[in-house]
Amino acid sequence: MKLVAQSELVSACGLYCGACHRYRKGKCPGCAENVKASWCKIRICTQEKGYHTCAECTEFSDDVQACRQFNTIFAKIFALIFRSDRKASLQLIAAKGVEAYALEMAEKGIPVLKRR
Ligand code: SF4
Ligand code: SF4
Repeated sequence: MKLVAQSELVSACGLYCGACHRYRKGKCPGCAENVKASWCKIRICTQEKGYHTCAECTEFSDDVQACRQFNTIFAKIFALIFRSDRKASLQLIAAKGVEAYALEMAEKGIPVLKRR
């Protein structure tokens, strides 16, 4: 089934929530609406800075992995288990824009790019 492409469903850390099975099953409202995710420093930081995603961050535009809020121990474990590459996803957002990214991820049916 083809997924809908909605830029609002791109998370602060670069995931496409519209392709996440938890969102699709109604078990999570997606990053932007997930007010319960008060544990997430990335979500708080982007909101405070007025960014949609870390792709807009001027402080770490050279390498988002250098941000300690972004590259936590949990993020490293998550990336290892799921072979996910949120940095590559954010680079794609920076290059194409959030709407085109949402469209591409909806077409691929994946919430995040995979490590090669
Ligand atoms: S880790 Fe944080 S920023 Fe990323 S989707 Fe979850 S709540 Fe949103
Ligand atoms: S890269 Fe780090 S400092 Fe920049 S918006 Fe994301 S969490 Fe905040």
